[in-house]
Amino acid sequence: MKFNDFRGVKVIAAKCRFCGDAAAYRIDHARMSLCRSCFMKYYERKVYRTIVKYEMLRNAKKVALAVSGGKDSLSLLKALHRLIPENFPGIEIEIIYIDLGIPGYSEKYRKIVESICENFGITLHVYDLRLEENYVVPDFQRTAFKSRICGACGTVKRYLLNKIAYEIGADRLATGHNLDDITEVLFELYLRGSVKEIVRIKPVSWSTRDKLVTKIKPLIEMTEAENLCYALSNELPILGVRCPLAENSRMAKRKKLISMIEREVPGFRHTFYKSHLKRIMPYLVGAIQEPALIECNSCGMPSLSETCSYCKLVSKIRRNRAAQ
Ligand code: SF4
Ligand code: ZN
Repeated sequence: MKFNDFRGVKVIAAKCRFCGDAAAYRIDHARMSLCRSCFMKYYERKVYRTIVKYEMLRNAKKVALAVSGGKDSLSLLKALHRLIPENFPGIEIEIIYIDLGIPGYSEKYRKIVESICENFGITLHVYDLRLEENYVVPDFQRTAFKSRICGACGTVKRYLLNKIAYEIGADRLATGHNLDDITEVLFELYLRGSVKEIVRIKPVSWSTRDKLVTKIKPLIEMTEAENLCYALSNELPILGVRCPLAENSRMAKRKKLISMIEREVPGFRHTFYKSHLKRIMPYLVGAIQEPALIECNSCGMPSLSETCSYCKLVSKIRRNRAAQ
C-alpha cells in the first residue's frame, strides 16, 4: 500500500525531525516528518501519554482488548503488548474477538486475530455469534434494522464485549476507537443535539455498577492514518476488506464528509475533539445526570429499562423467524 494517497500521513522526501534520517511519513496535523523508527516511538509515546493522562489503567489488573482484526485494533494490540509489560507491570491482557457471521468478512479477520494472538502468546476468547447466540449480524437485514444495521451491530458488540470482559474477570475493556471514529460520532450527535449521548463520548467510562466493566479508548487521540502507518511499520497484516453490510452507510458518508472538511481545515478533528472534551464537557457533566441503571429482567445485565437494548434487539430476530 502507498501512503501517498492516504490523507493525514504521507511518504515524502524530507528528513526526520528527531534523528535527521530520511523521513518515511509526513504527519500533516502535527506538521512534522518522521522516519519509520521515530514514528513508532512517537506513536507509542502518544498512546502511553493518553493512558497516563486519563488514568486509564489506574489500579487495573486485567485488560480485555476488543480486537476486530482491522488496523486500529491490531495497532492497539501491538502497542499495548509493548507498553504494558514495560510501564504497567503485573497487568494482564486478554483478547476478545466476536465472530459476527458476516460472509466474506468475519472468517478472514478471525484468522488474522487467531494467528496474531498465537504469535504474541496472548489468550484469545473467540465468541461465535452463530454458535453462542443462534443468529448472525446479517439476520438484521430481514428486520426493521435493515437500514440501520451498523447501529444494531454496534449494540450487539457493546453488549457482548462488556459481558465477556466481565465474565473473564477483566476490570478494563479497551477498544481501538480512533480520533476519526470519535469525530464522526460527535459530528452526528452535535447535529442532532443529543446532549445525553454527547456526554458519554469520552476517553474513559468508569464502571458505575456491578457487571459493567470500565471502558477505555487508548487510541482516542490517534488518527486512522497514524494507526495505519503504525500497523504497516510493524508489518501487521492489513486485509483492507470492508464490511459488505456497511456500503453507503450513513457512518461511511459522515466519515467522507469529515475527511473533506479536514482537507480544507487541517486539524479539524483535533480541534473538534479538544473543544468537546475541554470546553463543552465540563458544562454538560454538571448539567446532565448519569442515567440510573437497573438489572435487565431477561439477562441480568445492567440496563436503562426493564429489558436491555440487546435483549430487545435479539427478540426482534426471534420474532421475525417465528413469523416466517
Ligand atoms: Fe457491524 Fe457496520 Fe461494522 Fe459491518 S460496518 S461490522 S455491520 S458496525
Ligand atoms: Zn438483557
